[in-house]
This record gives sequence, C-alpha cells and structure tokens, in this order.
Amino acid sequence: MTDFEGLVAVVTGGASGIGLATAELLASRGATAVALDLNPDVADPLVGIRADVSDDESVKAAIAEVVERFGRLDVVVNNAGIGAQGDVAANDDAQWSKVLDVNVLGMVRVSRAALPHLRKSPSAAIVNTCSIAAWAGLPQRALYSASKGAVYSLTLAMAADHVREGIRVNAVAPGTADTPWVGRLLDSAPDPAAERAALEARQPHGRLVSAEEVAGAVAYLASPLSGSTAGTILAVDGGMHGL
Ligand code: NAD
Repeated sequence: MTDFEGLVAVVTGGASGIGLATAELLASRGATAVALDLNPDVADPLVGIRADVSDDESVKAAIAEVVERFGRLDVVVNNAGIGAQGDVAANDDAQWSKVLDVNVLGMVRVSRAALPHLRKSPSAAIVNTCSIAAWAGLPQRALYSASKGAVYSLTLAMAADHVREGIRVNAVAPGTADTPWVGRLLDSAPDPAAERAALEARQPHGRLVSAEEVAGAVAYLASPLSGSTAGTILAVDGGMHGL
C-alpha cells in the first residue's frame, strides 16, 4: 500500500526514536520524508534539515526550504519534544519556559509556517505527539505533563479550526516507548537492567511500546485511511491510560 506516494511529509525530531521511526515508515509508503531536527543526521531515503523548533526564524527557514526543494507540503508530524522530571516545585521558571517553549510553542511555530502550504494539499494532515502524561496523572512529571496537556488541548482547537479547510489535525499519545530518550533515563539509574524490568512490569502488556507502533498510529492518522478523523488523541500505550 502506498498511502503517501507523491506527498511530502516533515517530521520534527525526526532523527531519533518515535520521529525517526515515523519518517522511515512514511518514506517506506512513498512519501518524501524530511526530518527537521537539531541533529538532522539521517540516512537515505530520509532527508535531514536542521531546525530548532524553539526558534521561529529557524522553523520558517526550514519549512521554506522544504517547499522550495520538494514543491509542496502535505503532512506535518509535530513530534520534537524534551522531558522534565519532578513535582511542581522541582523546576524553576526558566526550566518551565524552556520545556513549554519546545513542546508546545514548537508545534505552534511549525504549524503556523506550514499552514499556507497545507491548504494547497488535497491530502493535508497534522499529527502532534502528545503523551498519556497529558491526563494520566503521572507522579514526578508536573512540567512534562502540563506541556502535553497543552498539546492535547491545542490538538482539539487546531482540529476545529482547520478541518473545514481540508486539514485534519490529530495526535498520538504514547505510553512509555522504547526510544533513545527512555534509554538515557534508564542508563542514569543505578541498575539499568533492573529499572527496565520494573518499567516493563508496570506496563499493562508487560513491555515498552515500540517506536514503530507509535509510527504506525501516526501514519494512520496522516493517511486517507483516517479521512473522517479529526481532533482524536489516539493512545498507544498497551491500555495504560484506561487503568
Ligand atoms: P528522542 O529524544 O529519542 O527524540 C527526540 C528528537 O527530538 C531528537 O532527535 C532531538 O534532537 C529532537 N529535538 C529535541 N529538541 C528539539 C528542538 N528544539 N528542535 C528540533 N528537534 C528537537 O525522543 P522520543 O522518545 O522519540 O520522543 C519523541 C516525542 O514523543 C516527544 O514529543 C516526547 O514527548 C513524546 N513521547 C515520548 C514517550 C517515550 O516514552 N519515549 C512517551 C510519550 C510521548
């Protein structure tokens, strides 16, 4: 099935983890898949362009480069994100601003730059990477959860604003996914193997979510297979959010 033949997709944070798996899946289904990343080191057939979603000029230049090089823009996957640990008092204003800037405003900047081009596409879709942290009430994740809660609401608002002009906006909400990000967290534990085993045991299906499984949900929401779906937050978490 070549859902994305002839289409151009950008994936922010597309050089690692969920973003990389998504860019690879979209490319395997026929898209020109462009990874916008701080470190855009990706292999063919992916295209890497350096962009910092916390810098509006960088985002505008990267989207302009995509359209100049490939002539169109059809799919935007707003995936770049950073984490934060701790309760509400654990991070100072600068840390709160930084995480909200990357995780929320980053999506705003990329969407703002992309919308004029998406309006010209017959198959336009935006997929935001949310998290079950948006509503699951996870301990020691106050700042990160607040940022993803904003992504949840932003997705609903964007869906309402743009569905009538043919741009569907949805989100995926992964549970704990096996990516370099989570690998770094596990590696910082005194016993990474024991920490991984404990983390897996906490998942309803007894293992971490794979980046490829999240990518599959993104591809579904970006494709005509979900042509009547807008404003949906699709959990990919082994059922964690329902517990
Ligand atoms: P990752 O660290 O493996 O990859 C993130 C990528 O984003 C990296 O390539 C990084 O360079 C890029 N990036 C970071 N800041 C950027 C910026 N300012 N501009 C451009 N690129 C930037 O992380 P991941 O685990 O694949 O997470 C991807 C997304 O999935 C994030 O939004 C994260 O919040 C979300 N998520 C992850 C999990 C998980 O368990 N891994 C769970 C739920 C949601």
